[in-house]
Amino acid sequence: MTQNSMQAVAYEVLEQGNNKNVALVWMQNPPVNALSKSVRVGLIAAIEQALSDDSVAAIVISSKQTLFSGGADISEFSGGDFEPPLPKVLDLIENASKPVIAVLNGPAFGGGLEVALSCHYRVTFAANKVGLPEVNLGILPGAGGTQRLPRLAGVAQALDMIVSGRPVAAKKLPGVFDLVVEQAESLLNEAMAFCNKVINDGAIIKRTSEVTIDPNTAPAELFTQYRQGIAKQARGFFAPERCIQAVEAAVSLPFLQGLDREGELFMECMASKEARAQQHFFFAERAASHVKDYDKTTPTRDIRKVGIIGAGTMGGGIAMNFANAGIPVTMLELKQDALDKGLALIRKNYENSAKKGKLSLAQVEERMALLGGSTSYDDLSDVDLVIEAVFEKMSVKQAVFKSLDAVCKPGAILASNTSTLDLDEIAAATTRPQDVIGLHFFSPANVMKLLEVVKGEKTSADVIKTTMMMAKKINKVAVLVGVCFGFVGNRMIESYGREANRLMLEGANPEHVDKVIYDFGMPMGPFTMGDMAGQDIGYFVRQSRQEFIKHDPSYCVIADRLVEQGRVGLKAGKGAYLYAEGSRVPIPDPAVTEIAKQEAERLGVEQRNISDQEILERIIFPLINEGALILEEGIAAKSSDIDVIYVYGYGFPVYRGGPMQYADEIGLKTVYDAMCKYRDELGEHGKNWFKPAPLLKKLAEQGKRFSDL
Ligand code: NAD
Repeated sequence: MTQNSMQAVAYEVLEQGNNKNVALVWMQNPPVNALSKSVRVGLIAAIEQALSDDSVAAIVISSKQTLFSGGADISEFSGGDFEPPLPKVLDLIENASKPVIAVLNGPAFGGGLEVALSCHYRVTFAANKVGLPEVNLGILPGAGGTQRLPRLAGVAQALDMIVSGRPVAAKKLPGVFDLVVEQAESLLNEAMAFCNKVINDGAIIKRTSEVTIDPNTAPAELFTQYRQGIAKQARGFFAPERCIQAVEAAVSLPFLQGLDREGELFMECMASKEARAQQHFFFAERAASHVKDYDKTTPTRDIRKVGIIGAGTMGGGIAMNFANAGIPVTMLELKQDALDKGLALIRKNYENSAKKGKLSLAQVEERMALLGGSTSYDDLSDVDLVIEAVFEKMSVKQAVFKSLDAVCKPGAILASNTSTLDLDEIAAATTRPQDVIGLHFFSPANVMKLLEVVKGEKTSADVIKTTMMMAKKINKVAVLVGVCFGFVGNRMIESYGREANRLMLEGANPEHVDKVIYDFGMPMGPFTMGDMAGQDIGYFVRQSRQEFIKHDPSYCVIADRLVEQGRVGLKAGKGAYLYAEGSRVPIPDPAVTEIAKQEAERLGVEQRNISDQEILERIIFPLINEGALILEEGIAAKSSDIDVIYVYGYGFPVYRGGPMQYADEIGLKTVYDAMCKYRDELGEHGKNWFKPAPLLKKLAEQGKRFSDL
């Protein structure tokens, strides 16, 4: 055996004599075997070496890392060195004169799978997963994936993999793999036996590009139906349609022309604002965990047991996250029946998941066994973390934290799920404010990915680090924020509801406002959202915030009138809309526009026709402006953190990258100028609510972006 280590790619020859040696090409580029320049260069060198060695009869490409390859090195996306391009490497592999066998020892994604598809044979184990997730970055597989996968997996299967980006287990892809072994442990041995068989059978070369697609397997209706099927979830995205067109090209064009078409579509995607936004978001999500408040040397605390106070809507959902991660939870309520009710609801949720096939009945019982209940604080004496989710009232929260301070062991982390209250005031009820932190989960807490981690004035670095790391364990994306009313997400959403109401006062109707916002890409408009959440929720928040809003007599008056008339939303069958019995479909109600008309008359507001553009700008731009204030105040550390909060917490369209990226994309001057225009044109309302943030003004004047900060 000869060995020649080429850094990112290692090359060795397995001596078998008789000119039947096997060249082993190992990709080794930790952590995910990304196809960086060094790997591409290494692969070319290794293949060329194997081809020029007469003793070598076959070539194996594999990896000694956990992954076969995670795909392109996305850090090269922003101005990397693309030479040699991946397609050139794949050409060399596919056109090699000796059989090349990909041995997938672990998952292969994106370019990693494209490498395997360009080989002449593929071998793996049954549970291994492969996929082409490029669509999630707003692009498509640009190294032949859209042309080769349909030839091997079949058009329908490939279409779904490419457009959805979802990985698929190897055992479900018989056309792609020439050998699928049951156990991962036996892969290498069986792969070598397979390799020898290929050599002994005459070293036949099977090029994917030479496979012809039977047009009967890909009738036009297949594509039409697929387009219809994904229309709703692909709404607003640019790449899915291009992915479909690329697969259509695989069916209608010869291989090389298909590759050219794929290249054109790839470039269209790369140049799209949607790809910029999705790639921004990809990095934003990862950057959220990079915070300056701690470093590698900061210790963390063990979280082995959790207490939750309040088994209501939030407490129950939060508890499920921990049980799902195998961490035992004690839930505390003051009364046994509230506790029983909370635990019964959790069981029902798990049983519903089991009905849908997402959990086995045994798993339901395993998770329920991790959830204990108590009505005595003494049972929380040994928990490492306790999360309070009781009523949103300062006096109640402070009483809870006093009790926790008395019973919890030293070093236990005391967290509050408050949405709006001052965390420092809550912490002041304890003798250990350094251990107090906000963990703001979003509803439904077992589903929503976002966790705002709120650091108080005295929260210690190790408590911040521990909770940020714990978030990953319970499958949440954590964003660190500071203390202010509503923190980042709910503080910014305030303007959203306020402006929607005001637009109605000025003559827009709820369905018009909601349509503009839905078409922008939000999951629903503000009036539908208000009805779903309950119009009374906002009403109570307004009652407690009178000092900040009473200077504006028009502030959410329509929402106030709705609540006063019992129109609290979906749960009452009427709110900003009407709802038929048992239905969630909003029906426009002229009575609501009448309320707006009367209030406008009473307040002397002139009603008029309002354009879609004005609706959009008046609802979205103040939200961005508030984001700028939040950055100036240091409540969020970076604009991308705000984007993560908005995409994961509020359904802001990921193809716009979040509100701050959207502002960067359309230009901060556009946002600033519009804020000034509305400030000047909307009378008192403009003066009250459209003051441009100084940071927005500064960046707009300097021609800069939020992401430049
Ligand atoms: P909820 O009314 O559904 O549940 C509150 C639970 O706390 C009830 O079961 C109640 O019996 C219990 N409780 C009240 N006082 C208690 C005490 N002293 N000791 C023990 N248990 C007590 O309310 P929720 O919607 O789950 O909200 C809880 C907290 O979460 C609030 O601070 C709220 O602002 C916050 N929050 C709510 C949402 C949401 O969408 N519902 C989202 C994020 C945060």
